[in-house]
This record gives sequence, structure tokens and C-alpha cells, in this order.
Amino acid sequence: MSENLTATTDVDWTILVELDKKHFLHPTSSIKEQQKEGPALIFTEGNGIYLKDTDGKEYIDGLSSLWNVNIGHGREELGKVSMEQISKLGFSSTFATFSHEPAIRLAAKIAEITPEGLNTTFFTSGGSESNDTAFKLVRHYWKLRGKPEKKKIVSRRKSYHGVAMGATSATGLKPFRDFTTSLAPDFYYVDSNLEEFKAFIQKEGAETIAAFISEPIQGTGGVHLPPQDYFKEIKAICEQYNILFIADEVITGFGRTGTYFGVEQFGIVPDLMSVAKGITSGYAALGGVIISSKIHNDLIELSDGLFMHGYTYSGHPTACAIALKNIEIIEREGLVNNSKVMGEEMLDGFKWLQQEHEIIGEVRGLGLMGAIEIVKDKKTNERFNEPFAPKIVSESLKRGLIHRGVVYEGADTLIFAPPLIIDKYGINKMINILNEAIGTVNRECS
Ligand code: PLP
Repeated sequence: MSENLTATTDVDWTILVELDKKHFLHPTSSIKEQQKEGPALIFTEGNGIYLKDTDGKEYIDGLSSLWNVNIGHGREELGKVSMEQISKLGFSSTFATFSHEPAIRLAAKIAEITPEGLNTTFFTSGGSESNDTAFKLVRHYWKLRGKPEKKKIVSRRKSYHGVAMGATSATGLKPFRDFTTSLAPDFYYVDSNLEEFKAFIQKEGAETIAAFISEPIQGTGGVHLPPQDYFKEIKAICEQYNILFIADEVITGFGRTGTYFGVEQFGIVPDLMSVAKGITSGYAALGGVIISSKIHNDLIELSDGLFMHGYTYSGHPTACAIALKNIEIIEREGLVNNSKVMGEEMLDGFKWLQQEHEIIGEVRGLGLMGAIEIVKDKKTNERFNEPFAPKIVSESLKRGLIHRGVVYEGADTLIFAPPLIIDKYGINKMINILNEAIGTVNRECS
């Protein structure tokens, strides 16, 4: 097999397919499928809401790739800013209080756009690292406050918090935990039910619980929205029992739900907030944990040595420069508001589909995060024995729309999160493709 591995022109894709099979272990993928079929698609370009594959076929990126490409693909401004930053200062450390301009400016910008009271950021390279940092940080915090036994982390069933050891242990979706054998200790799960949370606190004792973590809207679990007052009540319980509240805004941050951050939809301010994804719109690997002034001030007062936690790429200068430009674009183009307006348009489209197809049950969404439930019987919500979602996803793909199907734990759900730049035309195109895909699967499989 001959292929110049560093060449970027005149590519022989059949050779690359073989190289992929042999050398590339893909995340969250079927290894058997990869060996049989090769990579499902190889993308070569992105522009706006579209991705292009090796055949030149265009697809609407209906999940913003991994809920992250908020400003859309092909932004030359970000190419320019990365080139300038790499040429000026490609990397320098932020350990031992060394610093640099992009990280300082970004930390200050984050303090400006996050809810009042969240003012200080610890940088990471992504969402899993952000959550692992948050878990270690809350335990460290209680230790400094003389309560080392306050260490349990409580999360919600169906939640997804990432795949690092702490993040996996907090993830409520069981298949992610079952991937490995032993997990981190002191992680617990409750249903999205206030009484269960209260009962858990009574049983375990508030003096053993460090923090509660939740996504404002559960993403990977199937775009589940909480009841409007759920978080206000959860926050009140946390305050009553001195339990810190961590909002996992890895998906919902940076405009996804139609407000800058998901918690704003529910009128609460968390003690800590994990972010990643939309902070750079995926143009560089960056995440962060933003902490309240209260926690920061307590850390300043009580710290008795070094802060023994840090990643090589905490505050990577190029990633920070990209994040700053990304935020500038979000603001300049009014993308938070566009997410709200186009989100309503998308939900109206889902409601139209619901009338057209007897196999659509509940439809829901907030901003540009949405879901369609597939059911055998609308009245009883009975599911099909074999989920339809994967078949619909594959029919959509044939017609040029990428989205995801959720089948964990008995679900049969289609989920969507297109780039925040989408317009009415893009939404209509998505809905038309879905209409055909759902109709085809229903005709062939019911
Ligand atoms: N938290 C949430 C809510 C997520 O959706 C994800 C990723 O999808 C993560 C954490 C993990 O982020 P990463 O994949 O960047 O580690």
C-alpha cells in the first residue's frame, strides 16, 4: 500500500479507508462495523451549516457535529486568529502563576458573559476534564473548610458528563459506565424527582454530600427538559443543606438554548459551571470550570499550599485566542437570539411532522436543541420492539441530513442541535428531509 501519509492533494480514498480500519480506533463507534464497512463518512470540508464528504456530497450538520460547532463551519476569521497566535506565541505554560494575554482576556470575558457571581475560570481541554476538575475542586473546597467527609457527588439518571474517570462515574446513562469495570467511588444517581433527592440527603446525611451536578437540559440522554421550577427547587434544597450546585453547561453554554447559558432559562446561578464545546465552536480543544466569587474568595482565604491540579493545556494560548474570536462572532451576529428564534421555527416544524406522522409522539425543544419521540402508539406511548431511530437516521443521511438517534435504556428518540447560524431555509430543508425519512421508514417497517 503506497500513500504519502502527509500529502493533502490527490488523495486515494480507498487507501485511506484501509488505513483507517487498520490504525484508527474511533471514539463511541462500533469497531466491528468499522472493520466491515470502513469509516461511515470521510469529511473533507465544512461551510456554514454544511459538511462535505469525499464524493462532494453535502450534508446539513444537524447536531453541529458534537453539539459544538455553534458558529458553523469554515470561518476564515478563526483560521486567521489561530495563525496569528501560533506565529506570536504558540504555547506557554499557565502553571506556577505564569500567564499570557489570550487566557487572561478570555477569563475576564467569561466573567462578563456568565451569570452574575461567576467570575473566575480554571481552564481545561474539554468537557470531561472540566467535570473531573469540578469534582476534585468541590472536594478540595470542603476539605479546606474542615469537612473532608463531604465528598459524595450526586447526579441525575440519564445524564451525560463525559468519559474521564470522574465524568464517567457521574454519568447517569448506564451503558457508558458499563463500558469499564471499576469506577470512581462516592458517586450516586437520583431521578429527576425532588422527593428522591431529599430522601437521598436524609439517608446519606448532608454532611457527606459535596455537590449535585446537572445539565440544564440533558443532551446525550435525549434532550430532556426539566419542569420550569425544577432547578429553583433543587438549588433551594442545595442551599438548605450546604451542597454545591454544579451546572454542566458543556452543551447548553454559549447560546445553544436561546440564552447565553442554559441556567438563565431557569433563573438560577450555580456555584460552579462546566463549559467546553461552544466556547470555541469546536475550532480548538478548550473547556473550563467557572467558579463563584464566594468559592474563589474562600479558596484565597483557606488555601494552605499549591493548587495541585492542572493540565498541560490549561489555558492553551491558541485555543483561548480562538475562543475570544468565537465569542466576538456570537455577539456580532446575534447568534444567541437567532438560536431562540430559529429554535421556535424548528419546534414548529417538529409539531407539523407530528401531525403528518402517526409514529411521532412527543416533540420538544428549547433554542436549537430539540427531540422527536418515535412511538408505535401515540395514545399509550408504546414503543416499537426494534427502535426506528437508527433507520430514520440512516434515511436522513442518504438525503443529506446528519442527526442522532438515541436508543439507550429503551428510548427511541431523534435529537437535533444545528449550528446557531441556521436560517429559515435551513430549518425547512431539515424538516423536509425528516418528513421523507420518517415516511419511508414508517412505510417499510411498520
Ligand atoms: N458534559 C456534557 C453535558 C456533554 O454533553 C459532554 C460531551 O458531549 C461532556 C460533558 C464531555 O465533554 P468532552 O467530550 O469534551 O470531554
